[in-house]
Amino acid sequence: MNTESNDWKSPLEPEDWGALRKQGHAMLDEMFCYLQRASTGRGPVWQPIPPNVRHSIIESLPQAPCALEQTYGLFRDSILPFSVGNTHPGFMGWVHGAGTPVGMLAEMLAAGLNANLGGRDHMPIEVERQVVRWMSQLFEFPDSASGLFVTGSSMANFIGVLVARTWACGKSIRKQGVQQKPGQELVAYASTAAHGCISRAMDMAGLGSANLRLIAQQPDGAVDIQAMRRAIQEDLASGCSPFLIVGTAGTVDVGAIDGMSELADLAAEYNVHFHVDGAFGALCVLAPDLANKVAGIQRADSIAMDFHKWLHVPYDAGFILVRSRERQLAAFAETNQSYLARERGGMSDGSPWPCDLGPDLSRGFRALKTWMTLKVYGTERLGKSISESCERARYLAKLIERSDELELLAPVNLNIVCFRYRTVETLSENVNSCLLLALQRSGIAAPSSTRISGKYAIRAALFNHRTSRAQLESLVDFVVMQGRELNNVGTS
Ligand SMILES: *Cc1c(COP(=O)(O)O)cnc(C)c1O
Repeated sequence: MNTESNDWKSPLEPEDWGALRKQGHAMLDEMFCYLQRASTGRGPVWQPIPPNVRHSIIESLPQAPCALEQTYGLFRDSILPFSVGNTHPGFMGWVHGAGTPVGMLAEMLAAGLNANLGGRDHMPIEVERQVVRWMSQLFEFPDSASGLFVTGSSMANFIGVLVARTWACGKSIRKQGVQQKPGQELVAYASTAAHGCISRAMDMAGLGSANLRLIAQQPDGAVDIQAMRRAIQEDLASGCSPFLIVGTAGTVDVGAIDGMSELADLAAEYNVHFHVDGAFGALCVLAPDLANKVAGIQRADSIAMDFHKWLHVPYDAGFILVRSRERQLAAFAETNQSYLARERGGMSDGSPWPCDLGPDLSRGFRALKTWMTLKVYGTERLGKSISESCERARYLAKLIERSDELELLAPVNLNIVCFRYRTVETLSENVNSCLLLALQRSGIAAPSSTRISGKYAIRAALFNHRTSRAQLESLVDFVVMQGRELNNVGTS
């Protein structure tokens, strides 16, 4: 017998496609049910993980196979009910997107195709380029702008810092490395309310987080432009090299927006790169009633944003848009790797590749779920959903203002409401942090916390497109009722 005619049989293909198909359809159906149920708000937002559930997936590295049906059962029973709950309309913590059924389906298609978007000539990359063109159009960038999908704004802001650094120092900096001479450092400027990933980006770029000057905010939360100008002048006078201004469109604490036009003017005056951390707020441009709040963002040299926040594209879908493709290529492109050579007319055509625009080589097809979200919903509906989340915040603020027992801690700029239960100052942090914990454990609603001018605040970030008025009312009722109880215990 000629054994060589017996081809290998893949050990990874299903033995029974019919059975797999049936199992797959059941899984898909259950996920549709999960999402359909999500919008009703039934069940808790979040629940503490019981120890037996936490342990249910702990085992040694499996050597033998376990049926898909059984493995899926573990997902259904141990994982799915104990997620953080950001699909649930009562979720109001941090800055989380809620997802959509369209995004879920797009993820399935992308996983089936299993495209690697590091480079090469294939349609998935054209989809990413189309999203780049759409974002250029949305932010009125030139056709020659470039962009890249990344995990999130933390990475997009890091890329922004690297692009600015290489532009300021020239490409040789990539070879020589950064040698900051004391007193002559490259320095960047941002608001004290800038997200922590900006200072981390300075750190990771080798520039040092101490060389990010944090500039005070004005009463409305926007960075103080005159203070930033003074800081730049002082740095110049002492021999430092200002190279970057970072504006924030939507601070994570309260949704404050820096003056984009003023920052663009300042950056032009001192010839420094103007980067915007627009993680969620940049997409205000989609909502006609909010777009003017970020007017001037169109003049940025680069913008970081997340489609997984206000556009509800499933995690993760961060993005960086750069006005000058040359600047982005200068920061990342390599020409000396023979295994990544480009040959015209073949599969390796289509330069520049996405890997020339950022640090990743292998990359998933994040563009598909974003492209599908934009195409299936359209910008009008997406903009409406953004506007409505700000409407929800105004409604919640009104409920809080109506109650003598509650207090708003910051003006509501966009969709974030920071408040607390009123009590004597010495008890306030204790009462309100207990309140937050009780609220999260109740499963009714799940805000997170922050500090506003040192005061502990319950922070409700209303990103979820499923949140109803009733949920906001339950939140307020719960806080008032429990607040009274905690306050009585504390003051008696
Ligand atoms: C969420 C957020 C970030 C970080 O983005 P990730 O996607 O979590 O990496 C940065 N800046 C602001 C203003 C944010 O809201």
